[in-house]
Amino acid sequence: MNLKRIIPAEGREDKAVSLQGYGFCFLMNIVLEKNDVKTDKFIIRDILVKSLELQVLSLSEVSCLIALEDRDLWDEVFDTARKIKEKVYGKRIVLFAPLYLSNECINNCLYCGFRTGNAKAKRKTLSKDEALREASLLAGKGYKRLLLVTSENPKLAGINYIESVIDAIYKNTDIRILHVNAPPMSIEDFKKLKDCGAGVYQCFQETYHIPTYRMLHPSGPKSDYNWRLGVMDMAIEAGFEDIGMGVLLGLYDWRWDVWVLIAHSHRLIKKYGFGPHTLSVPRLQPAEGSKFRGSRYRVSDMDVKKIVAIYRLALPYVGIVISTREPAYLRDELFLIGASQVSAGSRTSPLGYIEDSDTAQFEVADLRSLEDVIEKIAELGLIPSLCTACYREGRSGERFKELAEGQGIKELCEQNALLTLKEYIEDYAPEDIKQLLIKRLKEESEKTGNGIFEKFKLIEEGERDVHV
Ligand code: SAM
Ligand code: SF4
Repeated sequence: MNLKRIIPAEGREDKAVSLQGYGFCFLMNIVLEKNDVKTDKFIIRDILVKSLELQVLSLSEVSCLIALEDRDLWDEVFDTARKIKEKVYGKRIVLFAPLYLSNECINNCLYCGFRTGNAKAKRKTLSKDEALREASLLAGKGYKRLLLVTSENPKLAGINYIESVIDAIYKNTDIRILHVNAPPMSIEDFKKLKDCGAGVYQCFQETYHIPTYRMLHPSGPKSDYNWRLGVMDMAIEAGFEDIGMGVLLGLYDWRWDVWVLIAHSHRLIKKYGFGPHTLSVPRLQPAEGSKFRGSRYRVSDMDVKKIVAIYRLALPYVGIVISTREPAYLRDELFLIGASQVSAGSRTSPLGYIEDSDTAQFEVADLRSLEDVIEKIAELGLIPSLCTACYREGRSGERFKELAEGQGIKELCEQNALLTLKEYIEDYAPEDIKQLLIKRLKEESEKTGNGIFEKFKLIEEGERDVHV
């Protein structure tokens, strides 16, 4: 697609992002001519310098990155993305797993295996006990952070159900934080979700391109584009400061969707003083019973790398989440160009960890277990982290942003990463990777100082959840 046709004209971006509701999406979908997207090396290098100072990029600067084609300059962009990630978060990569609660969905998103029109799907909503069994199994492998995922079904998987599952998991397992990827809900329900201790609330816009959105979401509550678009405002107004956003890559031209997602983030920053806590990078996968293959807007591996780097440069403090939709070889590269949180050992069906069910939402590409991914992260010279400290220490929203701006998060992240790695070595690590992890722990701890060895001693003596 010709970039000139999809990038809004200079001077229209702020107007577009300051508007709300329908006016916002209408302006975002106007196709305007733009002739001044510059990609020469001087302009791009100026942008790289600005990003290295951890400044949020303007939308015009984002447009220049999106339009960039020069392969050598892209290598410079990837290298800059890695440096920014290390400046903000240090070498740590946080690990988690999704826990699917229900696939009984009243929507009909054509790309999803859970859609109501998929007559062949075997339907399942976990009982509270089943959810607890799945969470306990994951806790037994060393996970401390789970992402609860549910289809849209107010009767079977509404707020009271989600609340009861969260409560049961916190009370009965070693899981320390539960994030939630659930459909939009009322402000009242968001308040309940926040009050029961959910960490990040995550919801993807899928695509900002209205005609494509309407075509792919023909029925159910999700067919209302504006309801979906306003979800983050409602979550924030209900008290959520950690919100996770994303677009599903492959539904429409990624250049458009990535640009508008960043514009949407700017609008939230302007309005509330903070933007998304995380941006996810889901790419369309084959799904049993799907009616949309998405070949027209296929997103290549190189495009995924570009998108991760663009998010990292544009919004330096954002957590970038990479799921097991991506294959192992690509994830290993993404760990080094800006990703900061990754799932591992994932199953995408309810009861998927306890039994091998055939009701998955989409096909998982990286089949490695948690321990395999931990091993790989350590081999790459990074630090595997099972940290959950910020959510429980109230470091969220504006406070998190301020800490990150002063580069205070990096120090906390690296220490907590080492403390949780130490716990993992003591409690869960299989013998064949223990020596590698002990070596990495020693290398990084010697650089850290901060009384880390005294804290390790506490862990050796049996204390758990030691964090800063
Ligand atoms: N049902 C809720 C919703 O749609 O917001 C939340 C859970 S849904 C299971 C989580 C995300 O999975 C969706 O927002 C969508 O982006 C993604 N997804 C759906 N079908 C997919 C597919 N075939 N490949 C990759 N990701 C997919
Ligand atoms: Fe339901 Fe979410 Fe799948 Fe759409 S993406 S069919 S809302 S589970």
